[in-house]
Amino acid sequence: MPSRFGFARLLGPSYLLRCVVFHNVVSEGSPFTKGMWVDTTPEQFEAKLRFLSQHYTPVRLADVLSAESGHALPPRAILVTFDDAYASVAEIAAPLCAKYRVPAAFFGNAAFLDNRQLAPDNFVCYVANEMGMAPINAAARVVRGERELPLRSMDEVFSALFPILSLAERKSFLDALAREAQVDPARLAAEARLYLTREQLVGLAAHGFEIGNHTYTHVRCRRLSAEEVTREVDRNKAELEALTRRPVRSFSMPYGSSADFTPELERHLRAAAYEAVFFSESVANGRRADPFHLDRVSTRTAGDDTFFFEMEVMPRLRALRNRLFRPAHAASVDARCPS
Ligand SMILES: [Zn+2]
Repeated sequence: MPSRFGFARLLGPSYLLRCVVFHNVVSEGSPFTKGMWVDTTPEQFEAKLRFLSQHYTPVRLADVLSAESGHALPPRAILVTFDDAYASVAEIAAPLCAKYRVPAAFFGNAAFLDNRQLAPDNFVCYVANEMGMAPINAAARVVRGERELPLRSMDEVFSALFPILSLAERKSFLDALAREAQVDPARLAAEARLYLTREQLVGLAAHGFEIGNHTYTHVRCRRLSAEEVTREVDRNKAELEALTRRPVRSFSMPYGSSADFTPELERHLRAAAYEAVFFSESVANGRRADPFHLDRVSTRTAGDDTFFFEMEVMPRLRALRNRLFRPAHAASVDARCPS
């Protein structure tokens, strides 16, 4: 293994900080997540924790932030993170992290706590899996007419439709989708119990998980107005802080794309004293990594060999490609980021 790390280092920029993002850790998929590339089985997750604890030095977000003020990170530092408010993080992932002494940061959406409503992505996923794309296209037609239609996959909803909808249009789309599919999303949410309860979130914070902001209702940020930033970013921070009684000082971009990180949002986060912003474009964070642009590897492989390849080889090649062919912070198009 040491020789493989040496070989990977020859490929591209040296890593200052590796970050990895997980979502839902479950034995069996459900129609709410199937096809979204967010599920990892407990066995796969434990194998990755074992691999990370053997070959890396897991660090806390606090270590990453203090590195900014001159405290060096240990060699092969890795930060484990979770996005979205899945209950499985508290039920399965957190106990496994404790077993392997791996600290982690959790980025949540307060709107979904206690399963009061379904995240838009899980709702679209459920309809696509259970009823196909017809109700989704009918709902899209309500807000977009025939433009950009037909949508052929749920992926296109997340990557092509959601980025061009305002928050009000997304609400109209979701309301129309509930009518077209003849389902009650609130009832589905209560039955599915996909997300954390408030009590579980408080428990995660009490056990040392860093809690960060992932917007209130999991929105694509590129079209947010100033008022919507208050509603989605500030409200989420305020509710998470009120529950955990700890400061929320980091932000994870929903859908992981730097294309959603507008100058207005960056100014807002800096003014609100955030200290780190995370993306999911699976690009290596080099020696001069910007804490307001930390990238994470979104992993979905099973074996150690392929995990090594995802962690050490591909992020360096993408960093090299971005350095050679793209302006800084340009969106990465082939590192698929589910959420
Ligand atoms: Zn997300």
